[in-house]
Amino acid sequence: MASPVPDPIDTSVYVHFPWCAKKCPYCDFATRAVEPQTIPHEAYADALLRDLEARRESLRGRRLFSVFFGGGTPSLWSAAALRRTLEGIRGAFASEVVDLEITAECNPSSLSEEQAAAFREAGIGRMSIGVQSLREPHLKFLGRLHDADGARRAIRGARATGVAVSADLMFGMRDQRDILADVDALIAEGLDHVSAYALTIEPGTQFGTLARMGKLEVADEDDYARMFLEAEARFAVAGLEHYEVSNYARPGFEARHNLHYWRGGDYLALGAAAVGALSEGTRARRWRNQKDPEKYLAEPHEEWSEELDAEVRIQEALMLGLRTTEGVDLTALEARVGQDPRVGRKRALAQGLERGDLRLEGAVLTVPRERWLRLDGIVADLF
Ligand code: SF4
Repeated sequence: MASPVPDPIDTSVYVHFPWCAKKCPYCDFATRAVEPQTIPHEAYADALLRDLEARRESLRGRRLFSVFFGGGTPSLWSAAALRRTLEGIRGAFASEVVDLEITAECNPSSLSEEQAAAFREAGIGRMSIGVQSLREPHLKFLGRLHDADGARRAIRGARATGVAVSADLMFGMRDQRDILADVDALIAEGLDHVSAYALTIEPGTQFGTLARMGKLEVADEDDYARMFLEAEARFAVAGLEHYEVSNYARPGFEARHNLHYWRGGDYLALGAAAVGALSEGTRARRWRNQKDPEKYLAEPHEEWSEELDAEVRIQEALMLGLRTTEGVDLTALEARVGQDPRVGRKRALAQGLERGDLRLEGAVLTVPRERWLRLDGIVADLF
């Protein structure tokens, strides 16, 4: 992996695509279900490029580090509109890193062989596919539009184009005792990367309503911990390293865009509801764009923003960086935010080190992988 300390000029770009063919019952992302034929493909690219143009001044002297098309379901977007947007982004930076990582999130139901090839042709080098499971009962439970064969076809179609391929796996479902069946099925597809997320029940979703009415069961804590550890062991045997709490990769295939974010690097946000954060010296600012796609199409603009003070930046750096095997370089963090993260935490750090919850090598603080199941509590002790 590259250095855990981001170069201040390196800037990632996140492009939010706010539409899906159907809203999944557990999803609280900023997305809308629409009939795919009503998506304003070119008009959305136009709005993104207007948004980018308005940011041009803040990009001066920066180097493009990665581009991520997320959503929503970017695989519903026309490859021509995506290509035009990508060209605009690359043209807005004076330079970019060698071997720029360009990712698109894709859903199996909209990633035909033709669409995968067109995305590859448009410049996508990595496809992150929302598989979630390769077993029918789980896919039905999650309300997904694809079946297991459709997911396999999408993975194989993406791999055939030569891009790096990642798949999402959902775990923590009540009847998912045999997590290894899912893990083995994914491993058999020869993936470069897997993101394994626990099903969480969010208020305001269909699952949230069912849970409140006592009509939805998920795995209990012991089952969840067992699934986490069994999956980790099996992925390790297959050569997929557990490099972040929810992510596994073959060596060299870690998600660079996500690493940049976990390292506290700068990122520009484009698109409805997209959130970005850019720093200048030790100051930083975060903003969120207009959430409503219709209003964004009419006139892209910020809906909300905040200045990030040093303590907030330290807390976020610990929260995100300690999720990874590379951890947080405390000296580099101090230089970045202008405040020593050790001040006010000496006792908590000493206790964490004493308990074995934390490890300090030089200035690099990590949480040992065997303690990741308790990560939230360990990080909370530092606040
Ligand atoms: S496809 Fe993804 S973004 Fe869209 S509703 Fe389902 S989980 Fe949410």
